[in-house]
Amino acid sequence: MAEKHNKRRCSFCGRNEADVELLMTGLEGYICNNCVEQAYTILREESMLPVTPSFSIPELPKPKEIKAFLDEYVIGQDEAKCSLAVSVYNHYKRLMQNGNGDDVEIEKSNIVMVGSTGTGKTLLARTIARLLKVPFTIVDATVLTEAGYVGEDIESILTRLLQVADYKVEEAERGIVFIDEIDKIARKGDNPSITRDVSGEGVQQGLLKLLEGSVVNVPPQGGRKHPDQKMIPVNTRNILFICGGAFDGIEKKIAQRLNTHVVGFDSVQNKLSIDKNDMMKYVTPQDLRSFGLIPEIVGRLPILTSLHPLDKNALRNILTKPKNSIIKQYIKLMEMDNVKLTFDKEVLDFIVDKAVEYKLGARGLRSIVETIMLDKMYEVPSSGVKNCRITKEYAAAQLSKGMPQGM
Ligand code: ADP
Repeated sequence: MAEKHNKRRCSFCGRNEADVELLMTGLEGYICNNCVEQAYTILREESMLPVTPSFSIPELPKPKEIKAFLDEYVIGQDEAKCSLAVSVYNHYKRLMQNGNGDDVEIEKSNIVMVGSTGTGKTLLARTIARLLKVPFTIVDATVLTEAGYVGEDIESILTRLLQVADYKVEEAERGIVFIDEIDKIARKGDNPSITRDVSGEGVQQGLLKLLEGSVVNVPPQGGRKHPDQKMIPVNTRNILFICGGAFDGIEKKIAQRLNTHVVGFDSVQNKLSIDKNDMMKYVTPQDLRSFGLIPEIVGRLPILTSLHPLDKNALRNILTKPKNSIIKQYIKLMEMDNVKLTFDKEVLDFIVDKAVEYKLGARGLRSIVETIMLDKMYEVPSSGVKNCRITKEYAAAQLSKGMPQGM
């Protein structure tokens, strides 16, 4: 019996039946499970597998609806919201078109969002994720730098996407990846030949492969590739990449390009036309290159949008306006103990002033509110009170008692 088995071989790879998990019989020969898998991968690479979109145009949220949804959670940043909304909508359209033989092929439009830390880049990504109809994940580019520039590590970006898609490869291949802190893999220094940061560039080359669209072997459990781990081939051709970064110091490059300085404008013309408080809005692909992104990466991120610095008014709105604003969250927490929590108007202005004073932007709002509220959150549930009012005096006293770490 064993001998008979040994005679049957895969007609493609020649492996013996005993050495494969499954050998299928055809009219003239046999095929093993490995060769079927491989053939399947080739079909996928060539985009020859039928795509069955689980959505149709009429049921998709239109860019304006996507933006309106983002407005509920994110204050301002209209330009970035519109870019995101359009890009995501076009991504759906592209997926629907894929494989139906249309000769006008819609190209992928990956986005890069440039904006100081704490202006809402990650928040935008997290918010849009709530209404997406495709798998979505956020990955941090700093991890890639730490791991060195061994090309394989970059593939772990797709591990999370596979996990979100329950390891359904076709689903993951239509997904969206948000790469946070993309600026951290930039080459340090302007001149690549002298001050070349090899690891940064190695990671960029790896990332380029993903952005361009290729089949990469993804470690299903993440981390570094392991010889024993069975890799999952994923085609990145239809994966949309959204990148975000603070690009600290890029203002200087922009200013240089605009032939002016961040402080002190000489020419009257510049004084009139350049908003020195928001240099980011003049960012161009050229600036990303001078910052240290390789031209090929910049070329693969055709949509460049910037986020604006948050002024006092925006910070004030962030405290109270978003659907899940910090203040609303505290009111909810107290409500669960049947306590009505109120903040005097001056308290809110005071919190904003402190956030500005400590240069913490929107990120600081939460820690300041937490410091102010800690004692109340501790006492109120067992005190039997029905109302809790926070006055400016109380807030100032609490804040002077225990400033959050880092202030
Ligand atoms: P970034 O990714 O740009 O560094 P985040 O999106 O992580 O900043 O913002 C940090 C926090 O600050 C968010 O969780 C949110 O609470 C608040 N925040 C920042 N920008 C905004 C905004 N435009 N609207 C509402 N909240 C914001």
